[in-house]
Formats: sequence, structure tokens, C-alpha cells
Amino acid sequence: MAPSNGVRLAAETRVKGRYMKTHAQAVVIGGGVIGCSILYHLTKLGWTDVVLLERDELTSGSTWHAAANIHGLHDSANISRLQHYTMNLYKQLEEETGQSCGVFQPGSLYLAQTENREHQLKLQAAKAKLYGMNFHEISREEAEEKHPLVNYDGIRCIMWEPDGGNVDPSGVTNAYAMGARQKGAEICRFTPVTGTVQKPDGSWIVETPKGNIETEWVINAAGLWGREVAKLAGIEVPLQPTEHQYFVTETMAEIENAGRRLPSVADRDGEYYLRQEGKGLLIGAYERDMRFWAEDGTPLDFAHDLFPDDLERIMENVMRAMDRVPAAAEAGVKRVINGPMIWSPDSNVVLGPVPELKNYFMCGGIIPGFSQSAGMGLMVAQWIVEGEMQYDMFPWDIARFGLWANDRKFVMAKVEDVYTHRFAIHYPNEERAAGRPLRTRPVYELQKEMGAVFGLNYGWEHPQWFAGEPGAEDTNGFVRQNWWGPVGEECRMLRERAGIIDISNFAKYRVKGPGAADWLNAVFANNMPKAAGRSCLTPLISVRGGIAGDATVTRVEEDEFWVVSSGMAERYQKRFYDMVPLPEGTVFESMTEAMCGFNVAGPKSREILQRMTNTSLATEDFPFMRSKMIDIAAVRCLALRVSFTGDLGWELHCRTEDQLKLYEALLEAAKAFGAGPVGARALMSMRIEKGYGSWSREYSPEYYPHEVGLGPLCKMEKDFLNKAAVERVMAEPTRETLVLVHIDEDAVNASNADATGGEPIFRDGKGIGRVTSGTYGYTVGMSLALGYIKSGSAEPGDEVEVMVLGQPHKARILEEPPFDPKGEKLRA
Ligand SMILES: Cc1cc2nc3c(=O)[nH]c(=O)nc-3n(C[C@H](O)[C@H](O)[C@H](O)COP(=O)(O)OP(=O)(O)OC[C@H]3O[C@@H](n4cnc5c(N)ncnc54)[C@H](O)[C@@H]3O)c2cc1C
Repeated sequence: MAPSNGVRLAAETRVKGRYMKTHAQAVVIGGGVIGCSILYHLTKLGWTDVVLLERDELTSGSTWHAAANIHGLHDSANISRLQHYTMNLYKQLEEETGQSCGVFQPGSLYLAQTENREHQLKLQAAKAKLYGMNFHEISREEAEEKHPLVNYDGIRCIMWEPDGGNVDPSGVTNAYAMGARQKGAEICRFTPVTGTVQKPDGSWIVETPKGNIETEWVINAAGLWGREVAKLAGIEVPLQPTEHQYFVTETMAEIENAGRRLPSVADRDGEYYLRQEGKGLLIGAYERDMRFWAEDGTPLDFAHDLFPDDLERIMENVMRAMDRVPAAAEAGVKRVINGPMIWSPDSNVVLGPVPELKNYFMCGGIIPGFSQSAGMGLMVAQWIVEGEMQYDMFPWDIARFGLWANDRKFVMAKVEDVYTHRFAIHYPNEERAAGRPLRTRPVYELQKEMGAVFGLNYGWEHPQWFAGEPGAEDTNGFVRQNWWGPVGEECRMLRERAGIIDISNFAKYRVKGPGAADWLNAVFANNMPKAAGRSCLTPLISVRGGIAGDATVTRVEEDEFWVVSSGMAERYQKRFYDMVPLPEGTVFESMTEAMCGFNVAGPKSREILQRMTNTSLATEDFPFMRSKMIDIAAVRCLALRVSFTGDLGWELHCRTEDQLKLYEALLEAAKAFGAGPVGARALMSMRIEKGYGSWSREYSPEYYPHEVGLGPLCKMEKDFLNKAAVERVMAEPTRETLVLVHIDEDAVNASNADATGGEPIFRDGKGIGRVTSGTYGYTVGMSLALGYIKSGSAEPGDEVEVMVLGQPHKARILEEPPFDPKGEKLRA
């Protein structure tokens, strides 16, 4: 039960005597731009019995003082789609409501000072072409014509987004509010929420000084107070506010005389933003010398307030802006805004139903609120009204963070890092160091000594690759980096001899009890193994009929099963497991922390392991997809005869306290065969050589089972979670097909780059699809990409173009995976 705390009343007298509903389908807490957009979109999707509660005036958090720049392009294709939707909605909203959104769309110029920025922008331009968005390269002359005040010296590439610009923050918020009201929503201002109490049936009582509202759904859109409102429901969210500054100059003659509105300038290498405001300029910066705010909680009496100016702090960035637009240096400062904004550890919104609570939706930590408000409101409304969003928005999902992410030191370190690197390029495979290590397993120190270069995997330190000596770090960029060679060595070692891969990051669950088989059959689409010692692969089906997950389920005993699935999806998939009630006496428990695992794979893996156990590992005794409890070097392990490498191999799962002992023994035994440790990047490369999909890349709720080759694993003769949805989508023609593509060797060698994911695929100049995962296939000598293409747009053997670095690279669709297409090695 949630406590009813004493949130101070912002305006006690003004709430007295006003009428307020006592029941609603959903209650949105917070009347900033996001809360109002959610309310508007709920009504748009047909939920009109909805209420928004705002403790003060609308806009009284971060919203009222925002610079409110709008941009359409983002590195993530789905976020771009939603930003695009947002930018297009503002004008429509004005027409619909008659409320001005103050939209200026003079266009945005994106400048690249470095080669990496050029790669990033060119890739974004290729994606824009695929998705039909306006974003393309222009010449310096064209740019000079569009914005004559910019000094383009040192700029190697200029992109143009004709729809870029800015809006009026309060106009937009009020337009959403008006649009929602027109459709029947109620908005109560000066009505602070003081408690959210869950009833035994899962519905909620939202408490305010004006009275209570009973509701099915609570939506926390309390912005700067997201943490405090979450606490009312007994939950913590990984958010932290900071200060952020911009200033507006006095009128500048050059702008006054321009006779038109000038485009905004995104010179991200300069780490500032700049646009016209009135007849002057607005310049803002994410400075290195940043300041946190409200570390112990956002003050409840803060509303339309600002902090004292501190321009000195952003002066370094401002000087770069002045070098770029020299006329700005002559202008006086008219107004400074130093206001708060609230961040998540990776600067993306924390959005979604909180997996541990029924019908409590969190939506907080939004940085580009004006670029994303409509898309975000639409996604929230879709989730609540339709049960799921139309896009895979895992990068926004609160479930990408486990409860581990609430560690305050971690949150602070990450927020400092994302604030100060707001405009830095985020490279493929990039692993940022801030806030780490957070979660380590017993082998961590040994792996470090062996030169492991770690990545962050659902909070855990996880070896990406092994450098020759300790202390090595990744270099970053769009082209092949320092790890490219060593990862190749690891792949070759495994394929020629053997390798030991730490797979402790896989999520593991135990289901035990008399109803275990029935429950698993009701959750997963495939038939569960009938006999102990057997395993099966199975999809988990999402609400719209897509792939919510893929798992290997092993029947260990008659009434005990072991489920292995994606580690990063643990909290996300909990929502699905919770949809099917557990039978009395049957237990479902996560073993991810309690158990660790290694995959020993490669042609010599049998010989290595056979020396360490009395159990026969011969094919006839331990065939593919079978399991046994075995002792390896006196460590009790659940051994599964599977390997994501596509090679002969075993997964060994042991108790966490035995992990170090098992690892040391495996490494020692492997030495005699010239085998050793292998990291996650090599595993990714090898699974692509074999054409295996991976969750969040090839498998996501956006793709249907028959499009990803998992159709035969959906057993339509039985009942399972979301079967009706999958039945519906499988009756429709296939929209897209998963393909494996071989990119031309000369092309990748000339670019010194492989596909990494997200690159558009073109055929005869037309966009037909996109890459989901890319790699160099070291043991097959091919640069490879898995991706989706529109069904019927190309066939195996056809030539296509993959836009590596945003440039066309000749490629061919493969008939079958280049590694072990018949599965002979896997089954050996
Ligand atoms: C200086 C600055 C410049 C910015 N520039 C841009 C930009 O150029 N482009 C862009 O896209 N974004 C920009 N932003 C970010 C943008 O302002 C935010 O993304 C956006 O305002 C977030 O809106 P919100 O609705 O989530 O939160 P908020 O605006 O904080 O709104 C939350 C609301 O919840 C209410 N509330 C809180 N607690 C309760 C309670 N207990 N009961 C009832 N109501 C409650 C609050 O009163 C408040 O009105 C900028 C931010 C700052 C600080």
C-alpha cells in the first residue's frame, strides 16, 4: 500500500469548492507538455473518460521555460519516426483547436566538423530517404544562402532539414490540453496529487485535497517531480535533475534586416545549439562544468521558478558558437534562462507500465520534450488503450533498467556523463565508462587480469573481447576499431579449436511444481518438452502478435523446467510472464543472479569437457538439444547441448559461488587444446555467420513469427499467450522477410567498415529494408548483415545496396548461412 504523504498544496484556496470526477479510466499526473500530450492521445484513441491533475498551472515544471527547438532526425529509426510525427502534428493541432503552437519551421542546418560526424549525418540522411523524411545534404553555397551569418570554414558536410525549427512551449501544451478537453477529458489545475493507493483488485485511488479519483490506470507524467510522485506508489525511478542554461541576445541588425526567419544551427561538434529568437539569437549549451539540482528530491514549492544566471559556466561552448556566427559576439544579452530538467541514466525517457505494479505507467526523464511530445503521447496511449505500442521502443522502456539502476551513485555518474556529452556521437558498440562497475560476478577480477574489455549488460560487467594485456579499452568510431582484429582471432580460435564464452548475462528462470508444464505451455508458443532431459526453442508472443522473446526451455525433471532467455529483456518479459497466473503450488523464479554460465563451443569442446567429467558426452549419449546435470571439475552444472555460436558446444550453468572455480578449471583444460576465452562480440559475429537472430535486433514485438522464421514454432493446435493475435497476423501476407546479406569485400575494405545495424537497404535506388545486425564474419571471410526487406522486393541471389556509413555498398542476398548451413557441426 502506498503512503499518503504530505505533498504541500500549491494553492489550497483555489481548489476549494470545485467539482472533480470521482472515477476515470485513467488519471494523468502532471500538466507539462508530456502529460497534456498523453491526455490528448488517450482521447484520440477513444478513451475520453480521462482526467489530468496538475498541482499548479499547466507548464509549471521544465515546460514553460524550454527553448523548444524541434528536430526530426535521431540515430534510432523509430525515435526519428516519432519525432517526425511530432513535428507534423503541431500544425494540425493548431487547426484542430484554434490554439497557436507558435510553430516556426525555417529549417535546420546540421554541420559536421569531423569525419565521424560526417559518417553519422550521412547515415541519418540515408535513413531519412528510406523512411521518407526530409533530411539531405546541401552544398556550402546553398547553406550560405539559407543562413548567411554562419561561418562554414572547417565544415566538411552540411545537412538540411526543412522542417526543423521551434515551437512555443506553452502554446503547444495548451493546444494539447484544449484538444483533449474538446474530446471530453477533464483537466484540474491547482490539484496536487498527494497519494496513489492501489486497491486489492489492482485499480487505483488517486488522492488530492479536492477528493479522490478511482481509476484503472495511473500515469506518472510529473516531470521534475517524477521521483516524488513515484514514491507515492512506493517505487523508485532512476532520474536526476540538472540545471540547464540558454540565453537570448538583444536584437541584431543582421537578423532584423534578413527579412525572413533564419534556420536553426545544429553544430554538435561545437556542443551548443543556436537559433533565431525574436530578432536576436538563442544560444544554449550542455557544459562540461555541469550542476546537479535537487539531489535529495525536487522541492514541492518550486513552480515557475529559475536559478540564478551563471553564463560563465557555458562560456567555452558559447565562444565556439560565436566563432561559428561571428555577428553574435557583438550582440548584448537580453535574457538568460537557467532552469531544471530531469534525466535518466542514458538520457532517454523512462516509459512504460512499471513491471512490478499493475496499471501504473511511468513517463519521466524526457530531454527533447518538444521534439518527442506527440510521438511519446501516442506510444503511451497505444500501450494503455491497445495493450502495446506499434513500434519496438525498448530504448524508451523503463524495463531496460532493472531495479539495480536505482543505485544513486550510478544514476549521478551516468547523468553527469550524458549531460556533458549530450551532443557527442554515440557509436555502434560504444560502451561508456561512467558509473561502472555496478554489478560484477566472481570471475570479474580474473577476466580483468586476462585483458577483458567489458561492456555494460543489464547492469553487469560483461567481457566484450579479450585484449592481450589488462587495461585495454575500446576505441570508438564508425569504421573498424581496435577490437576488430582480436575479435577475429577469438572467432577463429573457437571455430578451429574451442572457446569459452561467459554467458552469465543470459536470463535464467526455474519453473517448478505440478503445474509447471501447463503454465509454460500456456505462456510460450511452442510445445514444451514432454520428457526430462529435452530442450526446445520457443517464441514468446507479444500483445500485437510480434516476438516478445525467444527462449530455450529445458525439462530438467518431470515437474521442473529451466528457461534461458535474453538477459537485457528480463524485466521487460516479466510483464508477459505475469499475464498468465501461476497454478497453485508452482513457483517461477529468476535464477539470473544465483546462477552463472559458460558456453564451451568449437570442434574440440567435447574433448575438453570430456576430460573434466565422468558423464559421456559422446553424440549418442548427449545429443543436440538434450540436457543433463553433470559434474565438471567437481562443480555441479546443468549442461545443455546448445550453442549460440552455431558450433558444437555445451552451455554449462552453475551456482554463482562456483563460477570462479569452474572458469579456472575450464581455462586450464582448454589450454592444452590451444583454446581460451572468447567475448560477446565474437559470439555476435559467429551467430550472424550462422544466421541466428537475436532479441531486440532481429526478434522484437515489431516482427511477426512467420517473418522471422519462427512461424513453425507457434503451435496453433494449443492455447498460449496472445495466440489470437498471432493467428490474426499470420493469416495476413508477410510484410517483411529476414535475410542474410553478404556485402562486397572491395566495398567494405575501401570503407574499412562493416554494417552495424540500422543501415538502410536499397535496390535500384528504392528503399526496401534495413540492417538489424552487422559484422565481419571472420571464419567465413565475409562482411555480413542480417536485416529485414519488404516481402517480394528481392530474392536470395539478388543484388542490393547496403548503406554502410551512409554510402551505397554492393551486396547480395544469401541463399543460406555461410557457416554450417546443414547444421552438421552443431549436431556432431
Ligand atoms: C533550459 C531548458 C531548455 C530546454 N530546451 C528544449 C528544447 O529546445 N527542445 C526540447 O524538445 N526540449 C527542451 N527542454 C526540455 C523540455 O522542457 C522537457 O523535455 C519537457 O518540458 C518535459 O515535460 P514534462 O511534461 O515531462 O515535465 P514538466 O514540464 O516538468 O511537467 C511536469 C508537471 O507535473 C506537475 N506535477 C508535479 N507533481 C505533481 C503532483 N504531485 N500532482 C499534480 N501535478 C504534479 C508539475 O507541476 C508540472 O507542471 C528544455 C529544458 C530546459 C530546462
